[in-house]
Amino acid sequence: MKKSLVLAPGPTQVPPEVLAATAKPTIHHRTPQFETLFGEVSCKLCDVFQTKSPVVIFSASGTGAMESAVVNLLSAGDTVLTVEAGKFGERWGELCKAFGVNSVAVKAEYGEVVTAAQVEAALRANPGAKAVFATLCETSTGVLSPIEEFAKVVAKSEAVLVVDGVSGLAADVLRTDAWGVDVVIAGSQKALMMPPGLAFAAISEKAQGLMARSKLPKYYWSWPKAIKNLRDNTTAYTPAVNMIYGLAAACDMLLAEGMESVWARHARLAHAMRAAAQAIGLEIFAKAPSNTVTSIRVPAGVDGGKIPKIMRDKHGVTIAGGQGTMKGNIFRFAALGWCNDFDVTTALTALEYTLNELGHAVEPGKAVSAAIAAMQSPVPAAV
Ligand code: PMP
Repeated sequence: MKKSLVLAPGPTQVPPEVLAATAKPTIHHRTPQFETLFGEVSCKLCDVFQTKSPVVIFSASGTGAMESAVVNLLSAGDTVLTVEAGKFGERWGELCKAFGVNSVAVKAEYGEVVTAAQVEAALRANPGAKAVFATLCETSTGVLSPIEEFAKVVAKSEAVLVVDGVSGLAADVLRTDAWGVDVVIAGSQKALMMPPGLAFAAISEKAQGLMARSKLPKYYWSWPKAIKNLRDNTTAYTPAVNMIYGLAAACDMLLAEGMESVWARHARLAHAMRAAAQAIGLEIFAKAPSNTVTSIRVPAGVDGGKIPKIMRDKHGVTIAGGQGTMKGNIFRFAALGWCNDFDVTTALTALEYTLNELGHAVEPGKAVSAAIAAMQSPVPAAV
């Protein structure tokens, strides 16, 4: 008998309340009923995103909303900074290049963190930079960016700070307005506890100022159109109506728990996974670990590709392997979204089984008991 559990950095597990909401009868979107629903969802989303700025919604995956940021903020030939220390930071660079934007990469090695001092120096070297594109949790490495520090240095310039929170939003702390983050991008299928299919962009006034001067071509992704429609509690084009029902249910769950508690839960569970890995002699790959995803180095002598495969196919627990050059060298656990202590202990049990099956001896229960001890003690302040 097989049961399955997902602890991958997206798509994540969807609570039954959210799934049930998406199964409501589809209503027409040009109706007062939909407008009421959409207006309510927009208010809830602002609370989840911690902003009073508009949060526009697209029927797309997260990358669609990333592309929308590039085409709505910039003009061909503009210079921007892209913070790149993993596959998703690199995606910002690729998107900018695709649209003729001159992107200056501010880099760190995979597993390392780009510092605010590096961003500050790059802004000084590129005084005309229109935007700084960063990633809250670099999902490919598990590194958390110091977004609050980035915001402080970007605020001193003309540039806007755009943060890819596709994986990190509602998992790692992100105080959008309080920190002065101009644009936050997110996707439905991670900590927002929904199926894939919705993408979001929260857009500050400073970003709307840059938007007004942007000349890159856009049609479906037009922020001015999306913002105008949002004011009328609707969307420019047919929305994914049933996903909007799901979104309302997911926001209700998050807001009932409270964003501070949601962040604290992710911090506790990530702390437990790090403690468990270290208890069995494994090394955390990220130098500044996020609470969104925990990246762990494959122990010497073990075929790294087999860890996620055996965990999924034999034990029913889906985690993620490494991407790009990290393939086979790391594996990634994410107690992301709808997860609790028992999801973590189950997944760690499967990891112990798997490592033993691969010939890397682990004392049964050692990782699990370290996780339980960590979950029952206070999370260190730094995380
Ligand atoms: N950015 C980050 C940080 C991500 O984790 C992901 C998805 N793993 C993306 C962007 C891309 O999102 P999508 O696959 O929804 O387009």
